[in-house]
Amino acid sequence: MAAEPATTIAAAPSLRLHRAPWTLMYHSVDHYREDPHLLTVRPDRFAAQMRWLHRRGLCAVGVAELLRAAQTGRDAGLVGLTFDDGYADFLGRALPVLRAYGFGAALYVVADRLGRDNAWDRDGPRKPLLTADQVREAAAAGIEIGSHGLTHTALAGLPAATLTAETTRSREILERITGGPVTGFCYPYGSVDSRAVAAVRDAGYDYACAVERSPLTGRHAMPRCYVGDRDTGWRLHAKRVRDRARSLRSRGPQPQPQPQPEPGSGRR
Ligand SMILES: [Zn+2]
Repeated sequence: MAAEPATTIAAAPSLRLHRAPWTLMYHSVDHYREDPHLLTVRPDRFAAQMRWLHRRGLCAVGVAELLRAAQTGRDAGLVGLTFDDGYADFLGRALPVLRAYGFGAALYVVADRLGRDNAWDRDGPRKPLLTADQVREAAAAGIEIGSHGLTHTALAGLPAATLTAETTRSREILERITGGPVTGFCYPYGSVDSRAVAAVRDAGYDYACAVERSPLTGRHAMPRCYVGDRDTGWRLHAKRVRDRARSLRSRGPQPQPQPQPEPGSGRR
């Protein structure tokens, strides 16, 4: 399928940056003893965070649904909810809470690591990843399945062939597993440069999630809000206020990012 023309959130009249809806970033929901990368939210904290959204009249949805709603001006009260890496605890810990509130989410899985563990983290506990069957189970429950690459590699600065494998090949694998279109990509480590954005777009993804705002921010590098185990209701409120302020500062058309030849730019 041909890639969509280059369109940033800022450039699309119906989806300007100042209206970009709030999108939360999670990884793992589980009990833990050590969590050096701050990836894990305890189940009771996660339940409290979802309750906090619900009590404010907010409804969590996957990012594809969020963008569809935003394009037709029906995104009021919607919050994007994302889970990176595809940890196996999603089905038992997060999904029941989401179901209780009628929430959706996007789950970005590492296509060539299904059923294995987070070996890309050199230190910290090994956490099992969803198997292909479990990814199908999540998709059947209405969860959006997106790609987090093939091997959980930082994309910034990669050679073209590797970029293609991480984006195109991972999409093919996941579409075969889910039997449906995979329209969202999520950059491992939030690592993005202009060549990575181009590769993701060329692979046919409709959107991609980054972490931080940057000159590349747009439909294929959407910023997200990290949510951790320390985030009580008042901290979530503060993050929401902060992100709204940042979003407003970014309002108005932004220049299209120009290709930058030097590899590694934007790498965190
Ligand atoms: Zn990741």
